[in-house]
Amino acid sequence: MMTGAQYLASLKQRSPRIFYKGQRLERPFDHPALLPHLRTAAATYDLAHDPRHQATMTAVSHLTGARVSRFTHLFWTPEDLLRKVAMLRLLGQETGTCFQRCVGLDGLNAVWAATWETDQKLGTGYHARFHAWLRRLQEQDLMAAGAMTDPKGDRSLPPWKQADPDLYLHIVERRPDGIVIRGAKTHITGAVNSHEVLVMPTLGVPPEGADYAVTCAVPIDAPGLTLVFGRQSNDERKEEEGVDCGSPFGVVGGESTLLFEDVFVPHERVFMAGEGEFAGPLVDRFAAWHRANYGGCKAGNADVLLGATALLAEVHGTIGNAVVKDKLTEMVHLVETNYAGAVGAAALCTQLPAGNWLVDPLLANTVKQNVTRFVYQVARLAHDLGGGILSTLPSDADFRSSEVGGLLHKYFAGKAGFSTDDKRKLIRYIEGMTSVSTLVEALHGAGSPQAQRIVMLRQANLGEKANLARKVLGLGPPPAQAKK
Ligand code: SF4
Ligand code: FE
Repeated sequence: MMTGAQYLASLKQRSPRIFYKGQRLERPFDHPALLPHLRTAAATYDLAHDPRHQATMTAVSHLTGARVSRFTHLFWTPEDLLRKVAMLRLLGQETGTCFQRCVGLDGLNAVWAATWETDQKLGTGYHARFHAWLRRLQEQDLMAAGAMTDPKGDRSLPPWKQADPDLYLHIVERRPDGIVIRGAKTHITGAVNSHEVLVMPTLGVPPEGADYAVTCAVPIDAPGLTLVFGRQSNDERKEEEGVDCGSPFGVVGGESTLLFEDVFVPHERVFMAGEGEFAGPLVDRFAAWHRANYGGCKAGNADVLLGATALLAEVHGTIGNAVVKDKLTEMVHLVETNYAGAVGAAALCTQLPAGNWLVDPLLANTVKQNVTRFVYQVARLAHDLGGGILSTLPSDADFRSSEVGGLLHKYFAGKAGFSTDDKRKLIRYIEGMTSVSTLVEALHGAGSPQAQRIVMLRQANLGEKANLARKVLGLGPPPAQAKK
């Protein structure tokens, strides 16, 4: 397994085509806009070497018997699912932000099962190819970004009826040695600092949309692939020195849009090429695994936010106030409710025919639905306790100014024992972790709220529940059964 430093060195051996604010980044891995996200991913590599966290951060590969990063290991036992939740919380606590690698991990599991099932039914040879690719990923300890979401154009139309057929990524050419793909994938977490991109379909497709059912692995610097790094609130501050930058690990995952301009993918990297009936289950399972994650990673992030909010209350001298304690308790309640859902979804898992284990889809979607609300409520409480200073604090440059800096330090002093720098760092962290980018990520990441509600209703089986009510109340069988 690589250390963080080895991971960074391995990225520098690649030359991905990355744009940011209109410029191609000549040395992307030295650019201040990307550095916080690189540091965060590097932390996931370093923590895998910490003996205290070996059982959480690593696992024994069922492919090779070697110890590998848990981010490259399939959910091969129910315990793996529970350990993943523990890993998400730990990393959330250690970095206080999104550590990016879970999308790829959940994608590996979804593609493992989809390739196995496709081969079983259609006699294709996808699973062996995927097995070989995954083995290399484990052995070289590579980071794979999961790329699922297409731009989607007119959302009332399916992919093959869009005015521009490229609004969903698709196969434009089938060659004897591989396929050529064109299209885009958006909001792709961690892609700029990944080694590989695991491209997956965004929805199930009937036979007429077969070319849109494509799963494959593309190296980050493949010819024809361009990444456009997205903007975040306050992102220009990343390019400054000093306190206003906020956390060294940044906020959210460093998302980008990936443009595939006729990218050739050789057969050994193609894991689905037209088998649309297997795309739907792939997406649903990926979503279940990834939605359950949010109860773990957001709980870990909220631990840091809660700690920062409590510390700021201490600096303000309000921590002893019963109302402040009650609001902190409410934050704890919201955070632990999210976590409990993630643990529950893992505990009630079932084994897929391909051998790996799937979280309970109803609980997984419920977790994510809770996150879309609770992260906002936690942020509101942090704002309430932190005060207006979260949005009006003068800049770091003013605090360093020879003209006004002294006065600012004097008037922004807090409780004895805390420096104004400590106070400002707490404020900037809370600001970043409750900002638009962070909240929107919690709302739309892993699927927008309505996507969960569709699955929740489907999984809830209302007919069965109605039968329970009939039985308890002695209402007799439903009309259709009564006729028989
Ligand atoms: Fe992982 Fe959470 Fe980031 Fe998704 S949002 S990649 S689950 S840390
Ligand atoms: Fe996310």
